[in-house]
Amino acid sequence: MARAWAEVSLGAVAANVAALRAEVAPAEVCAVVKADGYGHGAAPVARAALAAGAGWLAVAQVPEATELRDAGIDAPILLLSEPRLSELDEALAARIRITVYTPEVIERLGRAAGAAGPPVPVHLKVDTGMHRVGAAPEDVVALAKAIGAHPSLALEAVWTHCAVADEPDHPFTAEQLERYEASLADLAAAGFRVPLRHAANSAAAIAHPASRYDLVRCGIAVYGIPPSPALAGSVALVPVVRLATEVAAVKRVAAGDGISYGLRHRLERESLVATLPIGYADGVFRSLSRSGQDVLVGGRRQPMVGTITMDQLMVDLGPDSEVRVGDEVVLLGAQGEERISPDEWAERLDTISYEVVCAIGARVERRYTAS
Ligand SMILES: *Cc1c(COP(=O)(O)O)cnc(C)c1O
Repeated sequence: MARAWAEVSLGAVAANVAALRAEVAPAEVCAVVKADGYGHGAAPVARAALAAGAGWLAVAQVPEATELRDAGIDAPILLLSEPRLSELDEALAARIRITVYTPEVIERLGRAAGAAGPPVPVHLKVDTGMHRVGAAPEDVVALAKAIGAHPSLALEAVWTHCAVADEPDHPFTAEQLERYEASLADLAAAGFRVPLRHAANSAAAIAHPASRYDLVRCGIAVYGIPPSPALAGSVALVPVVRLATEVAAVKRVAAGDGISYGLRHRLERESLVATLPIGYADGVFRSLSRSGQDVLVGGRRQPMVGTITMDQLMVDLGPDSEVRVGDEVVLLGAQGEERISPDEWAERLDTISYEVVCAIGARVERRYTAS
């Protein structure tokens, strides 16, 4: 039996997809399951999201799509960046909706797709200001013509990505959408029909109705996490993951003694100290040691003490705890009335909740629950 586990509530995934659908209708929901479903497990999350009415899936890398196909998933899968030229055959075999933004990939894909069968749908990405990937707006018409020159390809969508949607009052989102619409207008003027338009991530889908278009690409919200603390509560999201372990040892430690590597934490009073079989190799960031992040045990908050090690960490239970070896300990999620959110860790770590859940290690067993 695993010493640490992540309970993943597929019922919560379904509830979140349903809440997002209700919010963005008539736009469709594309569930983003890149990076192994943000650490939750791509295929189980994908199946739950599709069953709850998501029409699309999205991944970052070609092998992630192949994995979903191998798991028997048949839904449309969008690849969020251009594949490498060496991956085009695999991308075609996996029937991916391939994102394109360079003439080289369009040319090679057009030839690789061949004349047999219906045209391969592609999604042309325009960079409206994030400057990560995508075509410059002034190149969009030429790229659409390049796609049109290949009977083996069909322009299914033109899309973009928002850089600051998680800051609801930031004016740049509206500016990006204006640039995006200018590209759509250029394409219409050049005679291109664009069946699908999409621009929103979770934050935009929730906070910027104008960004919803035909499809919203939601990742973090599907996992029940608000895209930013500023957006908490705007759509009712249900937390999906609960990271837990069990007490491996309890010992009484004298006042003044040090705990863990470096003996950096000294006990102010005699205390019972629990050892948990989970460490930074499992995604419990070593830098949480500095802040004394709490865990939940016996339904109460108790602080981590001493340096978090690769495989284990220690918790101060206080001088007269009832906690025993084998008791459940929750690091993320609820126990009793208490809850620790990924945002609580993120704030202490000066990062975002996304990194917290993506970091849950491969050694942590994923346990899927229907409820
Ligand atoms: C990861 C990603 C998303 C999903 O973003 P969330 O903030 O998790 O909803 C959407 N679109 C693109 C291009 C992405 O890379």
